Amino acid sequence: MIEDKNQQRTSLSQLGEFGLIDHLTQNFKITQASTLKGIGDDAAVLDFKDKKVLVSTDLLIEGVHFDLAYMPLKHLGYKAVVVNLSDICAMNAKPTQITVSVAVSNRFPLEAMEELFEGITLAADQYKVDVIGGDTTSSQKGLIISITAIGEANTEDIVYRSGAGETDLLVVTGDVGSAYMGLKVLEREKQVFMVNPNSQPDLDLYAYLVERQLKPEARTDVRTLFHALELKPTSMIDISDGLSSEIIHLCKSSKVGCNLYEDKLPIDPQLISVCEEFNIDSTTVAINGGEDYELLFTIKMEDFDKIKANPHFTIIGHMTQESDGIHLITRANTKIELRARGWNALGED
Ligand code: ADP
Ligand code: MG
Repeated sequence: MIEDKNQQRTSLSQLGEFGLIDHLTQNFKITQASTLKGIGDDAAVLDFKDKKVLVSTDLLIEGVHFDLAYMPLKHLGYKAVVVNLSDICAMNAKPTQITVSVAVSNRFPLEAMEELFEGITLAADQYKVDVIGGDTTSSQKGLIISITAIGEANTEDIVYRSGAGETDLLVVTGDVGSAYMGLKVLEREKQVFMVNPNSQPDLDLYAYLVERQLKPEARTDVRTLFHALELKPTSMIDISDGLSSEIIHLCKSSKVGCNLYEDKLPIDPQLISVCEEFNIDSTTVAINGGEDYELLFTIKMEDFDKIKANPHFTIIGHMTQESDGIHLITRANTKIELRARGWNALGED
C-alpha cells in the first residue's frame, strides 16, 4: 500500500487559485503522441489520426463515494484515476489521457491536496496516461473529484455491452468480492478507532482485501492479452457495482439470458476466511460486492480453447435465450433468479 504523511498545514488561500493549479500540476509529464497540447492553455489539443476516441467521466463526492476516515488521500487520487481507466478498458480500448477536476473546501490544507495529486501522478505514471487539464475550484463543504478518461481504439476492436450471443461463454478476470470485504474490514476498524482512538489496527490478515479496496488496478493488461490470443470478446463491462448487476447490464443490452455457476466463482482464499469471521456468505459477497474493477466479458463457444487454463480468466457461466432469464445455479443445483443489488444494498438483508 501507499504510505502518506500530513504534518504541515499550509492554507490554500496563501497560494490563490492559480498558484495552487501551478503547484499541483507542475509534475505532470506528457508521453502520448496524441497529446499535442496539455495543461496551460484554454483547452488541450489532441490528435488521434485514424483512431476512434473513447471518453468516460466519473464524479466522486466525499461522504457519498469515499470516506476520508479510512481512505488516505493518496489512495483516493490513485483510485479516482483507476476507476475511470477501467471504463476505457471495458471498451477494449487503450487509455491515453485524463482530465482532473477538483472542488475543495478550505478545511483542506495544501499538504492534503499534494497527497491527492501524488496519488493521481502515481496512477498517471503507472498507466502512462497524460494529465491534459482540469479545473480547480472551492466547495462549501468537503472534497469533490471528477475525472474524465480518454482512450483510443481501432474501430474493429471496440467491444460494447450489446454483442453477447445466446450460446456465448461468460468470463471474468481476476477474482471478485475482495474489494467489498476490504471495505467491511476498514469500516470495522473505524468503529474500533472511534471507541478507542489509541487502538492500532492490525490489518495483516486482511492485507489483500484492504489493498483491493484502497488500491484497485485497472485491467489495461487484458487488451494486450486478447490481442496475443487473437480473441475479441462479443461483449464486455467492468465490475464497479457488482457481478450480478453487471451481468444483468450485459444481458439487457445484448437481449440474452444467463446461467451463472456458484461453484465457478473465482474467490480468493482470504475472502473465504474473512467471510467466515464476519459470518457473511462468500457467494453473496462475490456476486453483490462491488469495486473489483475486473472485466466481465462474453466469448463465442468456439473460442473456448483460446482462454482455457489461462490463469487470468475464469469461465463462470454461459448465456442463454432471453426468455430463459438470468439465474445463479447453486452448488446444490438449484436455480435462483439474479437480481441487481449494488454493493450498497448488500447489508440490507
Ligand atoms: P480556465 O480559466 O481557462 O478555466 P484555469 O486557470 O482553470 O483555466 O486552468 C489553467 C490550466 O490548468 C488549464 O490548462 C487547465 O486545464 C489546467 N488545470 C486546472 N485545474 C487543473 C487540475 N485540477 N488538474 C489538471 N489540470 C488543471
Ligand atoms: Mg478553470
